Amino acid sequence: MGLVPYENEKYQDWSDAKVREKMRAALSTVGGRLGRSYPAIIGGKRVETDGEIVSVDPSEPSRVVGRTARATEREADMALETATNAFGTWSRTAPEARARIMLRAAAIMRRRKFELLAWEVYEGGKPWSEADAQVAEAIDFLEYYAREMLRLKDGIEVYSVPGEESRYSYMPMGVGVVIAPWNFPTAILTGMASAALVTGNAVVMKPSEFTPVTGAIVAEIFEEAGVPDGVMSFLPGYGSEVGDYLVEDARTRFISFTGSMRTGLRINELAARQIPRQRWIKRVIAEMGGKDAMVIDDSADLDSAAADIVKSAYGYSGQKCSAASRAILHADVYDDVLAKVVERAKALKIGAPEAAEVNVGPLISEPQFEKVAGYIEAGKGEGERVLGGDPGDPEGGYFVEPTVFEVERDATVAREEIFGPVLSIIKARDFDEALSIANDSPYGLTGGVYSKNREHLERARQEFKAGNVYFNRTITGALVGVQPFGGFGMSGTDSKAGGPDYLPLHMLARTVVERF
Ligand code: NAD
Repeated sequence: MGLVPYENEKYQDWSDAKVREKMRAALSTVGGRLGRSYPAIIGGKRVETDGEIVSVDPSEPSRVVGRTARATEREADMALETATNAFGTWSRTAPEARARIMLRAAAIMRRRKFELLAWEVYEGGKPWSEADAQVAEAIDFLEYYAREMLRLKDGIEVYSVPGEESRYSYMPMGVGVVIAPWNFPTAILTGMASAALVTGNAVVMKPSEFTPVTGAIVAEIFEEAGVPDGVMSFLPGYGSEVGDYLVEDARTRFISFTGSMRTGLRINELAARQIPRQRWIKRVIAEMGGKDAMVIDDSADLDSAAADIVKSAYGYSGQKCSAASRAILHADVYDDVLAKVVERAKALKIGAPEAAEVNVGPLISEPQFEKVAGYIEAGKGEGERVLGGDPGDPEGGYFVEPTVFEVERDATVAREEIFGPVLSIIKARDFDEALSIANDSPYGLTGGVYSKNREHLERARQEFKAGNVYFNRTITGALVGVQPFGGFGMSGTDSKAGGPDYLPLHMLARTVVERF
C-alpha cells in the first residue's frame, strides 16, 4: 500500500482566534446533544438493557452528558458469542483491508475532531489542549497500527537450513476483551481496540462507566469506518457487574486492559484459572498505575525543571498514569525549586474546561474526588502542605486545587497512587539518594531526571526503574510511534503501546518449515 510515512497528528494552535471559534461552535453543538441515550452494539444491532449508566459532567454533576446501556452477564454473553462467530471470517480478511478500515477511522476522527474534543470537555472534564492531545493520540494509534500491520503481515525474516524453507509469521488469536479507563477515553479505547482489530481479532469493547458516551462515539466511528458487524461489540457496563464474567469466560482468548493496579491484578488472577471448555492460556496485556518521580539534581536548569514538574504534575489535574506525583530534589536546590514550583502552580487557572483559559479542570467523579480528598487529609498529618486547600462541596463540581506537600519518602502520599493534583516534594542529600528514592516503588511507569551532569544522566539511563524515562523535559504525553509507552513492575505487563512490539502481543507467532 502506498501510504505517506507515519507522522504524529498536529495539535491545534489555540492562539488562533479562528481555531478557538471552531471549538466554541463544537461546544455549542455538542452541548445541544447532551442527555441522549446510547444502547450497546452487539452484532451490529442496537441492544437496550434494563438498567442504564448515567454519565454526568464532572464540572457540573447535575448536568447529564448521556445515558448508556448498562450491560449485564446476558449482554456480555451475547457479545462474546457474536465475537466468537465473527472471528473466523475477520481473521481471514486481508491485513491490508483491515488496515484500511483503521485508516478510515482515523480520517473520520480527523473530520469530527472538534466534536470529539467537545465530548472530552463535557464528559472527561478535559481542558482544550488536553482533549486535543488525546484525540490526536487516538488518530496516531489508528495510523501507526495500520502501518505496523502492513509491516508484519508477511511475518519476520528467519534463517532456513539448506534444502528447507522456514517461515515465521503471525496469526490472529481469537476474541479479545478490551477494558478501558476513563482518563483517556478516546485515545486508550481506540488504541487498544484498533491494535486488537487490525491484527484480525474480534473485540468486545468495554469503556469505563465514567466515560461511556465517548466510548459510544468511538464505537460509532469504528462501525462507520467499516468494522463488520459482530467483529466489534460495544458493551458499556460497570466493571463490578460484567468485568469478571468477560475475563473468566472460556471464549475469551485475551484481555487488553488499562486501569488501576488493583483491577489489573484481579484480571491477571482470574484469567490464569482454567475453566471447563477452555483451550488456551489466556493472554493478559495490562497497563496499570504509577507513582512517577522527577529527580532534579544540583546542576539542573531550575526554571525549566520547575515548569516541567508543574506541567507533568497538574496536566489533566494529575489524572494521568504518567503524571509526576513525586519531585525528588537535591538538597542544594531544594528551596529554589520548591519556591518556583509553588509560584507556577499558583498561577494555574482552575475551573470548568468549557472556558479556553482553564488549565486545571475537575476530577472525573465523586469517588475519585473523595479519594483525593482523603489523601489530602492524610498528607496534612504527614508533612507540610505548602500549596492547596481543603476540597469544597463536590456538588459544585469535583474540583481540587493544585496541592504541594513537603514530605519524607515513606509518607503515604509519597508512596500510593493518588491520581489527582497532589505533588509530594521529597529532599535527597545527593543524586544517589535521589535515584534510590525514585526507584523505591512497586510501580515503574514513567520517570524523569533534570540534570546537566553527563554521569548522572548515564547512570539514570541504566538504573532508573521505569518503562519511560525522560531527561530534561516533561514526563507525560508519550507520542505514538516516538515514545512507546508502558511500565515495569506493578505498572503493567511491560507492553509498549504505540511501539513496534505491541501488535505481536495480539497475535500467535507460527513457524512453518517445508523440506524440498
Ligand atoms: P479502574 O481499574 O477502576 O477501571 C478500569 C476499567 O476496568 C474500567 O473499564 C472498569 O469498569 C474496569 N473494571 C473494574 N473492575 C473490573 C473487574 N473486576 N474486571 C474487569 N474489569 C473491571 O481504573 P480507572 O479508575 O478507570 O483508571 C485509572 C487507573 O488507570 C489509574 O491507576 C491509572 O494509573 C491507570 N492508567 C494506566 C495507564 C497506563 O498506560 N499504564 C493509562 C491510563 C490509566
